[in-house]
Order: sequence, then structure tokens, then C-alpha cells
Amino acid sequence: MNRTPPLLPGATIGVLGGGQLGRMMALAARRMGYRICVLDRDARCPTGQFADDVVVGTLDDLESARTVAERSAVVTLDTEHVPAEVLEAIAPICPVRPGPSVLATIQDRAVQKRFLDAQGLPQARWAPVGSPEELAAAVAAIGRPSILKARRAGYDGKGQVRLEPGADPRAAWHSIGDVPAVLEALVPFAREVSVILARAMDGEVRVYPLAENEHRRHILHTTRAPAPMPDERRRRAEEIARKIATALDHVGVMAVEMFELPGGELLVNEIAPRTHNSGHYTYGACATTQFEQHVRAVCGLPLGDARAFTGAVMVNLIGDLWANGEPPWQHVLAHPEARLHLYGKLTPAPGRKMGHVVLLDDDTDRALRTAEELVAKLAT
Ligand code: ATP
Ligand code: MG
Repeated sequence: MNRTPPLLPGATIGVLGGGQLGRMMALAARRMGYRICVLDRDARCPTGQFADDVVVGTLDDLESARTVAERSAVVTLDTEHVPAEVLEAIAPICPVRPGPSVLATIQDRAVQKRFLDAQGLPQARWAPVGSPEELAAAVAAIGRPSILKARRAGYDGKGQVRLEPGADPRAAWHSIGDVPAVLEALVPFAREVSVILARAMDGEVRVYPLAENEHRRHILHTTRAPAPMPDERRRRAEEIARKIATALDHVGVMAVEMFELPGGELLVNEIAPRTHNSGHYTYGACATTQFEQHVRAVCGLPLGDARAFTGAVMVNLIGDLWANGEPPWQHVLAHPEARLHLYGKLTPAPGRKMGHVVLLDDDTDRALRTAEELVAKLAT
């Protein structure tokens, strides 16, 4: 039983990393009466715009992280790329949730994959790769097409390269920067799904409706929820995600990305120990958003209701849409079921996530079509 008293509103939540996930969590936290202290290299970062207090520094700077911990009642994360060593070092000052060991397992792809293997959970065939010679051996074992991924610091497909049959492994190794990596078999998936859940300090788990995700150029493009899926397979997906969260002793929101094979088998792609882009639909569709849920979990409060009141589709707004200046948002706002979220990023860049639109509609096929129409209108 968890006997730690909850951190009640009025307390300060420290957030390491000032991106859009921290921003949306800060909005939820401040609505509930909490204070936010964020660490980021830029005071005008998306979270900083909604924080009570900003510490300017990089995520690997121990002194800056210590300052945040000293000013906070609990520290949490906007990104899994805060070095676990930094979290270890500040844990004696104030609780860190999720804990440093969760991050140590997840932020290195090889450690994460070993963990999944140890749990007996299904994933693509893989091999660790530490040199061009090891890559040649891994290619011989795993085959091609396959994907070489840097062990650390990847997001939105960065630090990854696909190896086609006949491709030169040495060139692939150089292209990701000569860093320790893993080689993964390319999965011929029928579709991608993710389970968003929250785990409380007492071990209770609440699962959101399953999300179905489509990526474009390795960046999430759309999510629909609930993903149409036979009950038994959906339960299997939820069971995999629960097992991961429990085995890690995770606290907070977590996303587990999965591949669904044409025959219905599920493989884990990767674990994100935080709120997730594919959970943005919860803001609008569900009784408790993933951001409020994360605040509740890390503050030791009861979890909120994860039930959805409606189907929903989320479409990401990528920096490319800003090529001709500010996109014509009136086209989005003219739809009564549409909600616009922009992250306040000061410089739009191609491939950069700038915002998203959530469309509330029980007919998610129709909402997906509307999403495409909106993106087409915004791009002109
Ligand atoms: P993010 O953090 O944005 O989810 P990431 O950089 O950590 O991205 P992954 O989730 O590993 O990257 O890969 C991004 C996308 O690339 C996947 O969602 C999937 O569409 C595709 N992909 C990655 N690995 C494989 C694989 N082994 N087989 C087939 N497709 C893959
Ligand atoms: Mg991913």
C-alpha cells in the first residue's frame, strides 16, 4: 500500500524539458492550482510560456536540474532523453516520477529491447551494433530490409536509417553518426497502434481507448481512437502495456507503440514513459486528459476516469505548413467538431511538430477524411 501523502494543489511540479508535452501538462496543472518550474535551454520554450518559474539550462546540466529539484515538490519529465544519471543525482533532493530506473531502461534502445525480451514480450528481431563489423554480422543475422537505429536520443525517426537489400552497411553506420545502435528487422505491419495508460503510485492502472496511428516520413500524422479492433486483440494490447508499466514500476502516463501484423499478432515497437502525441485526442474526447492524468499520478492523487465520451481523430500540424506564413486557421475553426492546439514554437521548421487539431466525431472514418481536407486547405 502506498502511504506517501499526496502532493496537493499549491505544490510546485518541476518539469525537465520545455516542449509541447510539458506545455499541455502545465496547462492542466495550473488549472488545478499547481505551480510549474521548468528546465529548458530557452526561457521562451512552449512550457516556459505557461510556467511560474523557468530555469535556463540544458537537460544534461546537473546544476540546473538540482535547482529545479530544490524549487519543486516532485520532478517529472517532458522527454525521456534526460540522462538517468541526472535523475539519480536529484532524487535525494525531491521525488522523481517516473523514477530514474524507468528512464535508464528506456532511454537506451538496446537496454529497452533486452528488457522486453526478459519480459517475454514480442518485438521485431534485433541485434545490438557497436561497430561497422558488428553491423555486417547483424545484417547477416537479421537480413534486409532492416532499420538501423541509434541507441540513444532518437525521435520522429531521427538517428535511423533503413537498409535496403544490397545497401552498404558501412555507409549506414556513418549516416547515423558512428554511434552505438541496434539493427531491427523491418516489420511488414498492417497498421500501428498505441496503448496510452496511467499508473499510480499504488500500482493502479487506467487504460485509455486504443489509438491507431499513421506515420508519414517517420512522423506521426494522424491518430484515431478508438482503433477499430476485435476485443480479444485489444485486450492483448492492453495486457502487454500493463505488464510493461508494472514491471518497470512506472508512475505517470506511459505509451506503448505497437505494430499489428496482417495476421493480428502484436509486436512492441517502443515504450515512451510519458504523455504521448497519440494521446492528444484525450483532450476533448475523454473525461480526464492524459496531461491531468499524469499530474494526478505523479502527485500521488487518485487517477481520473479514462473513459471517452466520443470518438476522435488527431492530425499533427508540421512546420512545412508554415512555408507561406501563418496557415489560414479559419478553415479549421469553421468545423464545429475541431479544436486547434498550437505549441507557441517561435520558429516553424520543416518536419517540426508545431501543433495539432482534434476532431471529435464517433464516425472516425469521416473524421479522418475531414483531417486530410483540413491539411490540404492549410497547405495552400
Ligand atoms: P517517435 O519517438 O516519434 O515515436 P522514434 O524516432 O523513436 O519516433 P520509432 O518509433 O522507432 O522512432 O520509429 C518511427 C516510425 O518508423 C514507426 O512508428 C514506424 O512507422 C517506422 N518504423 C520504425 N521501426 C520500424 C520497423 N522495425 N519496421 C517497420 N517500421 C518501422
Ligand atoms: Mg516511435
